[in-house]
This record gives sequence, structure tokens and C-alpha cells, in this order.
Amino acid sequence: MDYEKLAELLFPQITKTPEEYEAMYPQRDLPEGAMVTRLGPSPTGFIHLGNLYGAFVDERLAHQSGGQFYLRIEDTDDKRFVEGAVDIIINSLRFFGINFDEGAGLDGETGAYGPYTQSLRGEIYQCFAKKLVADGKAYPCFLTEEEIAEIRAGQEAEKANPGIYGAYARSRELSFDEIKERLSRGESYVVRLRSEGDPDQGGEHVRKIHVRDAVRGVLEMPENFQDVVILKATGIPTYHFAHVVDDHLMRTTHVVRGAEWLPSLPIHVELFEKLGWEPPVYCHTAQLMKLDEEGNKRKLSKRKDPELSLDYYRNQGYHPAAVREYLLTILNSNFEEWRMENPDADIDEFAFTTEKMSNSGALFDLNKLNDISKDVLLRIPAGQLYDFLKGWAEEFRPEILHIFEDRAYLEKILDLGRNDKKPRKDFIYAQQMVEFISYFFDDMFKIEDAMPAKVPASDVPVILQKYLEGYDHSDDQSQWFDKIRAIATEMGYAAKPKDFKKHPEEYKGHVGHVSTVIRIALMGRAQSPDVWEIQQILGEERTRRRIGEYE
Ligand code: GLU
Repeated sequence: MDYEKLAELLFPQITKTPEEYEAMYPQRDLPEGAMVTRLGPSPTGFIHLGNLYGAFVDERLAHQSGGQFYLRIEDTDDKRFVEGAVDIIINSLRFFGINFDEGAGLDGETGAYGPYTQSLRGEIYQCFAKKLVADGKAYPCFLTEEEIAEIRAGQEAEKANPGIYGAYARSRELSFDEIKERLSRGESYVVRLRSEGDPDQGGEHVRKIHVRDAVRGVLEMPENFQDVVILKATGIPTYHFAHVVDDHLMRTTHVVRGAEWLPSLPIHVELFEKLGWEPPVYCHTAQLMKLDEEGNKRKLSKRKDPELSLDYYRNQGYHPAAVREYLLTILNSNFEEWRMENPDADIDEFAFTTEKMSNSGALFDLNKLNDISKDVLLRIPAGQLYDFLKGWAEEFRPEILHIFEDRAYLEKILDLGRNDKKPRKDFIYAQQMVEFISYFFDDMFKIEDAMPAKVPASDVPVILQKYLEGYDHSDDQSQWFDKIRAIATEMGYAAKPKDFKKHPEEYKGHVGHVSTVIRIALMGRAQSPDVWEIQQILGEERTRRRIGEYE
């Protein structure tokens, strides 16, 4: 068979040669050791934690090594291309501090290795498919769905491996004239790889391939033997083919992708080999898992776990620094230790490595994120927290924007108890912060907790009345508390909790119960930061009003 002639017959419209593309996309001029990574999301409009997790690895590898990180839109599958999806991807990742150097962009693309959208690369894929056909390494396959189903049924009966390969690949041996004839009849076909793998996979002598994975070490896998489809009947490439062609021509050095691609790795290895190209270094990342209610590990699911969506973190108002910090703790096993040794260092000073990545499931845990977030927010000055919170509210809670009118007031609130020896860690994410500080604002203030059971209802107005009468806004903390003690004693409550513990029969309760009455009148809650400090922030007028108006 004259394969060159066959290639011309199949792809008359392809006039560029592989060499021309090689010249158009030369090796990148980068320093030794610089890594080129990419993110290849499909534009479904849904960007999830797994994307961020992978993007984080890509970004770190590229930017730590002085390389390039680019965005490629993988829109060759039949999934819907959602309008604005590219913006969503770029903006969501930017929010978390992940920026691309080149690739698909908000206003057109940047970079010399494009187009960066797979649907615009049709001619490129066809050019290389043509080359494979011309080399006798790929062929047109006319099998219909019915024929494929019939082959599969036969394989099941024979207990043979399923798929199109070896003798089952009936189009392999078609003659040039037969192919020409079928084409002239308008028969539809796909282009398949003519695999040289040994289909006898059950046999002892099955050939193995060895691939170095930066996360998993050297992988040993059976070689591919399937005549996989490289171009679909529409002329659109499959993931396998697009990955190989794109990552070669875009000069990607490290392919970071989910472990779900591991089973198809032998296909990619064979494709690289047949095209005569060096494969990139693969980094197959662990699946994101969570512990379910029963304590079992399972994959995060779009349907069951709202926290899989990145929108979740933005709506809730997680600070991007907290999410980054958390991701690093699940990405690199030595990060937490580093953080302990370098509590104030910029996170980018941490040397991220693929070797320290887990290769079994990475466990995602919201509680852990929340704990980390508390520490991260503690390190952020009140002024910056104010800006962050305001930015979030503008997008997600415009109805509370009035709380930002008095900057000094809100900054004092945000700093409350944070400069103590043992600083308070009250803040986790914006939604929770607003809830936490809501009592500082009259329109959001509400009585949430009941008065302590130890205090008879008739005592409440008396305590508040006495408190109001003796209130002096300029009292220092100890003068202020002495007055509460005096009220307690006068009304039959122990001045110290331990006295009450010793002789409960002698008292109604203790000073803590009395101060809780005041706390609830002021804040609506039985738990809060220091009351005296809160009063200093609320100011005299508001303090008196709340005590006076409680009923
Ligand atoms: N488009 C693929 C996906 O969405 C990308 C996989 C890869 O990074 O190679 O999973």
C-alpha cells in the first residue's frame, strides 16, 4: 500500500507539513530547568476545587523555575461550550492568586504557541494525523457502531479483550481502492492508530512500558495494543491525540493532570513514540477525597458536595490566602512543618516539589481549612481585612455595604482581641465574619440568646437599671468590673465564681451570671469578646441605649 497516496486521499486540504509546524513553534528559549506547564480545562463554566488544586501545582512548578504557565481550552469533546466560560476560569483562578503567562485570555490570546483553543487547531491535528497515515501508523476505519457492537459481543463470547485491535481491526487491511471506493460513497470513518502493541495481554510475555511520573516515581504498565481513535468522524481529535500534539507543539515540559488519566497513559506513550517525539514529564495528581459522615473516604462529588465548586469559597468569602495555605498543606506533606518554622514567611518562599505530593487520595477537609483560615486571617492587618471584606460584600452582600461607611469603627471591630498575648481567632470567612460582628450595627443587632437560668426574670431589669445608673464610660477595665461585682454582691450573687461553687446554697448565682445579663443586653449573645472593650468600640451612647432598651 502506498501510504503517502492514502494520506493525500484522506487529507487533500492539508498542505502544511509537520516540519513547518515544528518551525513555527520552536523550542522555548528558557533558562535551564525552567518548566512549562499548562491547565487544560474544558469550558463547561464549572470550575472546581480539582482544577484549582491542579492549577496550583502547575503555577508553582512554572513560576518557581522561571518557566511559563499557560491556559489551553480543551473544547474538543461534546460537552457544551458555555458562554463566558473562559472568563470564569481566568477570573476564578486569579482570585486565588493563580495567573497565566500566556494562552487563552479575556481579550483574545497571548503567546507564540497558539491558537490555545483546541477547536481552532483542527488543521494542526489533521496535519499530524496525515503524517501518521503517510507513515503507515494510522489508518481510516469504517466500522459502524453496529459492527463495533457485534465485534464486542464476539469478544465477550470468546473472553477476548474488548476493543478494536489486531484481527478485530477490520479496516486495517483495506486496500487503497477499497478505501477510495468507500470514500466516494460518502461513508463516514474515523482515523485510528495502528498500534504495534501485543494484544496478548494475558500472556506472560506481555511487554511493559516504563514511564517516570514526578509524583509516583517510575510506573510500569502494560503497553497499549488498542487501535485507538485519534480523529473522530467529524475530523475532531480525541483527547489522546490532542494532548500529544498540543503538549509537544506548545513545548510543555510537565503535564500535571488527574489520576483518572493514568489508565490511558500507555496510549499517549505510544502516540509520542509513533510521532517521534519526547514525552513530557507526567505528574498524575491524587484524586481529591473527603471523609463522609460514616468516616469513609470517597471522591468529592459535584452533586453532593457544594465545596467542590470554587464559587462556594467565593460566596462564603474565604480569603484566597487561606485557601492557598490550605491547598499547600494537602499538596506537600512537608508544608505544615515549614510553616511552623517560618510562621511569617511569604507562602511563595516555600519550595514546592512534586516528590512531596501524595499519590493516594488527597483528603479534603473543610474543618481543617477553617482552622487554617483562622490563623491566616490573624496575620492579616485590620486595614487589609476591611478591604477584603468590603470587596466581598460588594459582590455578594450589597445590602450590608453601610457597615463600611465608618472605616475606623469597622477596623476597631476587626482588631478586637487580636493583639492580646493570646490573640482571639474569631474569623474564618467573610459570611461568618459579618455574622460574628453583626451586633456592632444597630440594624443587624438582635437578641439571640436567653438570659442565664440562674438569674430570675425579675432580676434582669434591676441589674440593668443599676448598671446603667453606675455606668461611667471612662472607667478603666478594673473599675468597670468592680462595679459589676458590687451589683452582684448587692443582689445576692457571689462576687467570685469559686465562692458560688463552694457554697451554692448561699447565692442565686455568681458575678459571671450578672455580667452575662449585661452581655446579652449589649450584644444579644452569651458569648463574645471582652465586654469592656466592646463598649469602648460601641461608644457611650450606643452602650447606654442598648442597656436601657433591653426588654
Ligand atoms: N481537558 C482535560 C480535563 O478536563 C485536561 C486533562 C489534562 O490536563 O491533560 O480533564
